[in-house]
Amino acid sequence: MIIIILAQILGLLCWGSFLNQLAYRLVHDNIPLNTARSTCPHCLTIIQIRDLIPILSWLILWGHCRQCKHPISILYPIIELLTVITILPIFYFFPAQYWLAYFIFCSALIITVRTDLETFLISNLVSLYLIPLGLIFSFLNLLPITILNSFLGASLGYSLLWFTNFSFLACTNKQGLGTGDLFLLAFIGSFTGPLGCWLSLLLGSVYGSCVGLIQIITGYNQFSGKLPFGPYLALGAITYIYNQDLIIKLFSSI
Ligand SMILES: [Zn+2]
Repeated sequence: MIIIILAQILGLLCWGSFLNQLAYRLVHDNIPLNTARSTCPHCLTIIQIRDLIPILSWLILWGHCRQCKHPISILYPIIELLTVITILPIFYFFPAQYWLAYFIFCSALIITVRTDLETFLISNLVSLYLIPLGLIFSFLNLLPITILNSFLGASLGYSLLWFTNFSFLACTNKQGLGTGDLFLLAFIGSFTGPLGCWLSLLLGSVYGSCVGLIQIITGYNQFSGKLPFGPYLALGAITYIYNQDLIIKLFSSI
């Protein structure tokens, strides 16, 4: 059993490393998605196999490129760890029929965490374009929601944030959220239904507010006043899927 878990952790660390590369290439136009080998974004040297070991390589090199000594983002080991923490429980918490759908769902959210934290961008490839997959999975019983709930979840996700954005714009004359956030919540809704969509938004807002409050208290804000909302929505959605049975039971008892 321990060997199986260790093998799963190792596999997921490598998957996290792949998600890192995919996230980086999705928002940096200068590196095509089909480039086979990873390169240092600063000196463009092809990274050697020994420097591609998840987490360990980053620690050994103390977060710097072996050739040019340029700093390597701490997001690399964080995303690799996050991949293990969020995906490994899927195989122990859910019946096998839901594994594929939740594996894709969490992987897409992890990519969003990285791209939004790094560049304030959420790729359509891991939000808007995956909405039909939520509908298909729910239709095939590969998700614990009906296809109607998947459709309603996606619609609610988009409209909730559209109205929030519209009201914010009308009151302040400023754009509050990016289109990426709207598509992201629609994607979350297509995999979790209306209740999941609404609670992901609620939890995401709570997480975001807590971090915002800490930033105000400490006076530290690495995003110069702005706060990417995607990572909080993603963490809200992940919290929801692992507690949905409890939440649904709670709501049905009210
Ligand atoms: Zn370099």
